[in-house]
Amino acid sequence: MERRILPLLEKKDVIIVGGGLAGLTAAIALSGFGHRILLFETNAYPHHKVCGEYVSNEVRPYLEHLGVDLIAAGGVSITDFEISTPNGNKITTTLSLGGTGISRFLFDELLYNKAKSQGVEFIFAKVGNIQFAANTFTVASEGNTYHATAVIGAYGKRSSLDKTLKRAFSFKKQDWLAVKAHYKHPNFAENLVALHNFEGGYGGLSKTENGAVNFCYLAHYDTFKKYTDIDAFNRVVVSKNPYLRDFFEESEPIFDKPLAIAQISFDKKAPVVNHIIMCGDTAGLIHPLCGNGMAMAIHSAKLASEAMHVFLNDPKKDRNKLEHEYTKRWNTFFRNRLWFGRKLQRLLLDDKWMNAGLKLAGRSKGILNYVISKTHGKPIL
Ligand SMILES: Cc1cc2nc3c(=O)[nH]c(=O)nc-3n(C[C@H](O)[C@H](O)[C@H](O)COP(=O)(O)OP(=O)(O)OC[C@H]3O[C@@H](n4cnc5c(N)ncnc54)[C@H](O)[C@@H]3O)c2cc1C
Repeated sequence: MERRILPLLEKKDVIIVGGGLAGLTAAIALSGFGHRILLFETNAYPHHKVCGEYVSNEVRPYLEHLGVDLIAAGGVSITDFEISTPNGNKITTTLSLGGTGISRFLFDELLYNKAKSQGVEFIFAKVGNIQFAANTFTVASEGNTYHATAVIGAYGKRSSLDKTLKRAFSFKKQDWLAVKAHYKHPNFAENLVALHNFEGGYGGLSKTENGAVNFCYLAHYDTFKKYTDIDAFNRVVVSKNPYLRDFFEESEPIFDKPLAIAQISFDKKAPVVNHIIMCGDTAGLIHPLCGNGMAMAIHSAKLASEAMHVFLNDPKKDRNKLEHEYTKRWNTFFRNRLWFGRKLQRLLLDDKWMNAGLKLAGRSKGILNYVISKTHGKPIL
């Protein structure tokens, strides 16, 4: 079979697989250090993604250091948080660090434009295989192969690559699905992120840069499967929470139909697999109720690019040291947060515990703020 000749035959310093927040951040940081970067992404920008679209402010200083200012781009400053049970118990608090409401449509595109302006090369195609031999990676995509000294895996929650790499979670059936859509609402509070529970799941509401309110929820398949479609599920289950019922009644959908993804895994994953440095959700997904997955994706990309910069400048190219250093730092920053997120999700989905917890937190906001602080990091400078 004749093979396409491509202009990209020279070996790159780093190939990044996946151009979401983790992959794009790593591309900006590494190209800023002067390395030659090639990034593969399946979908052209801009595109919508299933996500709560609330970014913790812990990553704002770092993003600004990289030249990306979310507020200047129109992101909404979020300072208040409310949480409710399915039967309508609710408490509100002020977030100590706060966050920004911005759509993934805009956020990913801002990072993409920055990466492109720094000389990162993009190929919009799916990577089907990554092999490592003789100290070189070979990345296969649509019948072509590309070579690099290092590879960052930033391909999100789940990809066929996980099976190729024999990652345990990819062979298990997963129980969670997620749905997201934007809505026009006449008076949704500008500075608020709200987390509302319903049977078998919970959803977040917050504003984005153009005034649209994002509603994104996670639901357990056991509850969802009893209904024929998303509309029926929204009407019967989600709307049992009075705040969500009011939201649906008062708002108008902007999307033709909601986006949905299934088979979401919160299982433990390894941050290094077959010498590939994994970032963002590819290294581990925190439960969305923590509102911290995007910050973790960006932070992990920072850790990976710093460790990789040292490795690429090291004449000995000590790969063991790179992998050991990255794993150590990843565990330091994220392992406990993921553990806490798992425990919290179990409590949140248990009505009895949730009602008791909210009563307690209602008496002392300190408890709620303590829980929030356990799932978030400190500002990354
Ligand atoms: C329901 C839900 C709500 C959430 N809400 C929030 C929230 O409010 N705040 C928050 O901080 N976090 C939230 N998160 C988590 C957050 O969305 C993720 O942690 C974040 O998107 C991770 O970024 P990433 O770069 O790792 O992955 P992604 O953004 O998923 O990017 C991965 C990219 O890789 C590409 N890709 C995949 N396979 C391949 C391949 N083989 N070849 C080439 N490209 C490939 C994909 O097209 C994709 O663009 C939520 C998650 C869920 C499920």
